[in-house]
Amino acid sequence: MQMADDQKFLWIFRCGLKGLCPRCGEGHMFSRWLKIADKCDVCHLDFRFASPDDGPAFFSLCIVAFPLVFLIVWFEVAVSPPFWVHLLTSFPLVSLGCILPLQPIKGWLVASQYVNKAQEAGTEQLWAQLNKTDEDETKSDGS
Ligand SMILES: [Zn+2]
Repeated sequence: MQMADDQKFLWIFRCGLKGLCPRCGEGHMFSRWLKIADKCDVCHLDFRFASPDDGPAFFSLCIVAFPLVFLIVWFEVAVSPPFWVHLLTSFPLVSLGCILPLQPIKGWLVASQYVNKAQEAGTEQLWAQLNKTDEDETKSDGS
């Protein structure tokens, strides 16, 4: 199955955001909140290839935490509120802002890894096994 780049982007975005299997788009990628399932419950794709490592935390920090910290610093400089205001506003905002996007970001990274066939050194055999069950793809690749 070959996809154009914009189709790939939409597919990765949709699967990542909803936590769906990047091969069939129906099964669930997560067995718990941040725990990736062993296999897709619909097409049985083996998720052992998935290794987003600390990527979700990194992207959560870059996309959410840094802008929020600038906003909070601006709030402190502009308004100079008492400490308890930060305790009630800034602390929950940063905590939730960093934790809530972790699952969609992790899903996005795993879907992106699958769709783009990104391999970590030493996982070539696992990818060969995965592609054996996906013969349409290996034929169209000519490999
Ligand atoms: Zn699936």
